[in-house]
Amino acid sequence: MTRSGKLNEEINKLRGLQEIDSEIDGFDKKIDNKRQEIAERENSITDKDSSIRRCKEKAEELEQNQRELKIELEDAQTRIKDRQNKMMQVQTSREHQALLKEIEDNKRLIKEHEDQLIQIMEQVEQFEKDAAELENLRTGEKKLLDEQIKEVEKAVKKINTRKKTVIKKRNVLAPELRPGTLKRYDLLRNKRNGSAVVQTVNGVCQGCFMTIPPQQYNEVMKGDKLNFCPTCQRILYFREKETESADA
Ligand SMILES: [Zn+2]
Repeated sequence: MTRSGKLNEEINKLRGLQEIDSEIDGFDKKIDNKRQEIAERENSITDKDSSIRRCKEKAEELEQNQRELKIELEDAQTRIKDRQNKMMQVQTSREHQALLKEIEDNKRLIKEHEDQLIQIMEQVEQFEKDAAELENLRTGEKKLLDEQIKEVEKAVKKINTRKKTVIKKRNVLAPELRPGTLKRYDLLRNKRNGSAVVQTVNGVCQGCFMTIPPQQYNEVMKGDKLNFCPTCQRILYFREKETESADA
């Protein structure tokens, strides 16, 4: 890379550092993604738990309703029997008519309650079926989650081992930069989403994709001093044609 000899050593080191830091960011991102996958599955399980709870509550509510209806129905049956007994004793046809009406009313009530009870039974069955299905899904998902947690733990361990090696490289390289340069680099990385050192292609900064003034671009190409993008302030470097087009 340095065959031209005029490339500033510092630029090379900055490029190396940027490469290392991007790699470290990549490791962190990988770990974040893996943790995110687990969090999503956990959320999905929690959602199912709430749905299961809701189904069971509804079923219980309906069952309470059912019990009340049954009591009312039994009361109506008792009333019918009572009125039927009274029929034997009444004298006038008006009394007779009144009792008949009461019996009819109670019969109608019983019929309505019976219809309602059938509907409720069907609804309870549906809620219980839904709850059972959700529980099945939840069991499967929990199993997957446990496996996933183990896998992620393993993967994170591996990533962290690789990360340690890369951090070692960084700890060797970073002190070789002038403190002021390193500080500026770190600030830029903070401000610019992790990218402080960027390539130029055909006079365009590859960090913000704005054109660099021609005179400054010449300086970037010469590469014997640090150049900063006038728009995004990133540190610029120039790579020779063959590699430049490979990246473009
Ligand atoms: Zn820029």
